[in-house]
Amino acid sequence: MPMQDLYADIILPLAIEGRYTYSIPPALHNVAAAGVRVLVQVGKSRVYTGIIARVHDKKPELEIIRPLREIADPVPLVVEKQLMLWEWMAEYYMCTEGEVMKAAIPGIFFLKGDISGPVSEKYKVRKETFIRLAVSYSEEELKGIFSKLGSAPRQADVLKTYLHLSDFEAGMEVRPVERSLLLKKSGSASGALDSLIKKGILQARSVETSRLENEDFLTEPLVTLSSSQQSVMESVQDQFRNRDVVLLHGITSSGKTEIYIHLIEEQLKKGKQVLYLLPEIALTAQIIRRLRKHFGNVTGVYHSRFTDQERVEIWKKVAEKDKGKGYRLILGVRSSVFLPFTDLGLVIVDEEHDASYKQHEPAPRYHARDSAIMLAGFHAAKTILGSATPSVESYGNAMSGKYGFAGLMERYGDVRLPEIILADTREAYRKKRMVSHFTPELLNAMDQALGRKEQIILFRNRRGFAPYVECPECGWIQLCRQCAVSMTYHKSERRMLCHYCGDRTAVPSVCGNCGSPGLAARGFGTEKIEDEIRIVFPSARVARMDQDTTRGKNSFSRIIRDFEEKRIDILIGTQMISKGLDFENLTVVGILNADSMLNFPDFRAHERSFQLMEQVSGRAGRRQKQGRVVIQTADPGNRIIRLVLRHDYSGMYRMQAEERKIFSYPPYCRMIRVVLKHRDKIQLNSFSAFLADDLRSFLDDRVLGPEFPVIPQIQLYCIKTILIKIEKKRSLSATKKIILESIGRIRKMKGAGGLRIAVDVDP
Ligand code: ADP
Ligand code: ZN
Ligand code: ZN
Repeated sequence: MPMQDLYADIILPLAIEGRYTYSIPPALHNVAAAGVRVLVQVGKSRVYTGIIARVHDKKPELEIIRPLREIADPVPLVVEKQLMLWEWMAEYYMCTEGEVMKAAIPGIFFLKGDISGPVSEKYKVRKETFIRLAVSYSEEELKGIFSKLGSAPRQADVLKTYLHLSDFEAGMEVRPVERSLLLKKSGSASGALDSLIKKGILQARSVETSRLENEDFLTEPLVTLSSSQQSVMESVQDQFRNRDVVLLHGITSSGKTEIYIHLIEEQLKKGKQVLYLLPEIALTAQIIRRLRKHFGNVTGVYHSRFTDQERVEIWKKVAEKDKGKGYRLILGVRSSVFLPFTDLGLVIVDEEHDASYKQHEPAPRYHARDSAIMLAGFHAAKTILGSATPSVESYGNAMSGKYGFAGLMERYGDVRLPEIILADTREAYRKKRMVSHFTPELLNAMDQALGRKEQIILFRNRRGFAPYVECPECGWIQLCRQCAVSMTYHKSERRMLCHYCGDRTAVPSVCGNCGSPGLAARGFGTEKIEDEIRIVFPSARVARMDQDTTRGKNSFSRIIRDFEEKRIDILIGTQMISKGLDFENLTVVGILNADSMLNFPDFRAHERSFQLMEQVSGRAGRRQKQGRVVIQTADPGNRIIRLVLRHDYSGMYRMQAEERKIFSYPPYCRMIRVVLKHRDKIQLNSFSAFLADDLRSFLDDRVLGPEFPVIPQIQLYCIKTILIKIEKKRSLSATKKIILESIGRIRKMKGAGGLRIAVDVDP
């Protein structure tokens, strides 16, 4: 029987639509399968890594059908359910599968080159060699070894360096140290190390997974749930029988995390995997300790701070079939939805309302909560969404019965919700009672807390020292050279920084317009707060947590630990500190400027401000002590602030739902935003007007704009947006088709080469 011809449809990491079809050489028939990583030639000379989406025997109608060049791994890298997610994501978020693939797979898996040389070899996952003591020596034995090494000073150096790097303690377990690190730190060539290995003093072991923490954890039993927690958990389990998604609305410190932990245990016992999503890296440090305490090292973490090598290792441990060796529970940020889960039983989306779950740039512009729900669906798994302040969308879905619902409205151990104090900044300024940026109410609360050795958090959603620098003579403000925003003054770096494009310049000494000296730094960011607090409370220990102080991989955990272990009295930070953190000795939270959040021009600004204030407040007084929250505002009558004062979530929901219904915003319609960018404003204007008109001819008044956004220029690109509102009963996919076709037409127009178009679904 003649061998049948087989073809592979391949996803390539390019922004091209559709899949590419290659023929499969007979020798590769038995290994080519969906999910397998391959190398293929594209164009005349380039070689790319792709993933097989489908193998079939339908000869494509192409003039040349190229064969696959090479198969990179003998087994699929990507599992079927991941491919399903990619396909859904590309379709739903209007991007290519290649763009999803690029976001999904650690970069190191992508081999790229030209056809002349061997491609795959160079990029194989590098194994790291670890060095450890061959035996767990005593102090005495080591002394003996060193005296024998007297004639080989370089070997002695290497050994000394090893002992230092491994935090050696006599008789304790011997900790491995990377070979490369050891060589670098000891400043010696590999010869000395090799001799030590030959003599049987040190030992080398090559491991693939050793970049990840490998400690063993003693596992502790779970806490006993309170009766109301228990009944909430049972209700969730019960609703899972006929609902795929349940929203858990539990106020801060009600024990949501403990309930998740119980649900996780149930799944792990069944041999299922669990994905636990968090919006922010800063949160993983605390939760991971709580999880590992119970579940040990089947628990893995995933976020963007890992190196590519580490990501590959996490990937492999998630894909590991041997349940004793792999990760069964992953705690991670939004990109963890891309990991190769084989057997998910449950997805937890904690702080489900959080805006960081949505990726805005680059494509895929996906929402991790909604994608996680899809992913769970592919695995026939369940999803629990948790929050103290659910998004209007999810709460609406729960109210309409689409999602199940469970509410937990008491704090564990009857800890009272914090008392909220409004501090009117306008009045305080008028009466000259402000001390720099602090109201008497806040200072008073801080004073008392410090006196009782309790801790304080101050929240300000703006980093840097001063948001702008202004000339008092003529009003000139230093703007970014590339964006239509002011440059922020960063004092410790002595630089002006653009928060949109990252551009840096020197701090101007004279006005760029009239040349007069004596420029004034206006407004205040976290850095300035820190400076001022150090002056007002000179003996307090002060730290700051924002993007600028948390660049290193472990910097989050360090600050959080320092705060937990009471080495910090006052912590100043941006939204990073607003979420889910649990500090037992924290009793005062200050929100320094509620108004800047409330006045942000976005239909979600009020919802977000409520969530933020309520979340930040939730940090105060989580244990026995009642906390106090001081909200500084120039508008104490504001409706949202009034609702925060009463911790009235459902009031906020009703108010927002009503507004959105009247003005037609999600969840009462769907939105798609088209963002156009061009360096030339005139061209941009004409292209965007053309696109809007074209869309209008199909979609009528569903099309709004084009409009300049709040920041109409970023990185020299002028920006316009078109918003499309689609009523719920209209077909979303038909509308998307119209949008894509319309964009296709504009891309073909003369001069459209300099035009960038991005589509954002559910912006
Ligand atoms: P949430 O996630 O809703 O903010 P947590 O689960 O973090 O709440 O609970 C708040 C605090 O109360 C945590 O320190 C937690 O360990 C403790 N806690 C909650 N429920 C219990 C329980 N049933 N037994 C013991 N401690 C509990
Ligand atoms: Zn800029
Ligand atoms: Zn001037």
